Amino acid sequence: MSIRIDKDEIDSENECTGFEVLKPRVVKLTSRTEVDVRRTLPHKQLRMIGAWCFVDHYGPTTQVTGMTIGAHPHMGLQTVTWLFDGRIMHNDSLGTHQEINPAQLNLMTAGRGIAHSEQSLEAEATMHGVQLWIALPDKSRNIAPLFEHFSQLPTSSKDGVNTKVFVGQYQDLNSPAKIFSDLVGVEIKSYSEKVNLDLNPGFEYGVLNVGPEFEVNGHKVGFGDLVYIPLGQTNSQVSSQENIHLLLLGGRPFGEKILMWWNFIGRTHEEIVAARQLWNSHDQSIPDFDDQIKQRIPAPDLPNLRLNPR
Ligand code: MN
Repeated sequence: MSIRIDKDEIDSENECTGFEVLKPRVVKLTSRTEVDVRRTLPHKQLRMIGAWCFVDHYGPTTQVTGMTIGAHPHMGLQTVTWLFDGRIMHNDSLGTHQEINPAQLNLMTAGRGIAHSEQSLEAEATMHGVQLWIALPDKSRNIAPLFEHFSQLPTSSKDGVNTKVFVGQYQDLNSPAKIFSDLVGVEIKSYSEKVNLDLNPGFEYGVLNVGPEFEVNGHKVGFGDLVYIPLGQTNSQVSSQENIHLLLLGGRPFGEKILMWWNFIGRTHEEIVAARQLWNSHDQSIPDFDDQIKQRIPAPDLPNLRLNPR
């Protein structure tokens, strides 16, 4: 997935202090994709939730082969690919070719630099998923790139509530995925009308609704909305007239300023300039790789201003 900077993202601040329902905005990706993507993070009112810094949600769509993202680089972050329906092929500059299916995790740690491409494949009926980014803390952001795939993740099923933890720890479930700050990512599907979220009061959270409307502590949360839950909560009630389907994303407040531009996260303007130049000059410190897409997305021009970390 590829980011295009816009005014909302440049201007965004962490303004949320209490529960807040954030509406997604539709974005066009910088590649030949037919599928609308709804972005809730970064948001005009919210830059990050813990180290989570990017939430893109797409589908459900019957255009199951409509997601084609050509080769592009990343730096200073991890990407999470998580599907509810569909199939995606991931290729990267480490030589990885990994198909991902629903309830599996592709976790790509960009560290100092990696490139990847993603292409959705024929699937039964629909494609529905998210692409999430995790900012790497300063002490870890220059590590060598790494790719991990997990086909099985810790899962529980109690009282009609199915819980699957893809990063971090939730209740007594621990994901094996490698992360670099205190954070958690959980998918919850409930066939009952209530879910009690167990929360760490040292974390802030976002709950992304990927199913029918529900309420969180009395706030109505529609499909695609993200409700922010501030620090200090030990639990939160989700209720609905229908089944509940959500992602719970949380973490300790990140505590570092970051500079997010295009697909890079750095700390200084000069680093971003250098990363852009490295990619656009085909520098083989990020090696070329094969895929079926045969497209390489160049970094766009820098805006005519000095980029500052925030
Ligand atoms: Mn990407």
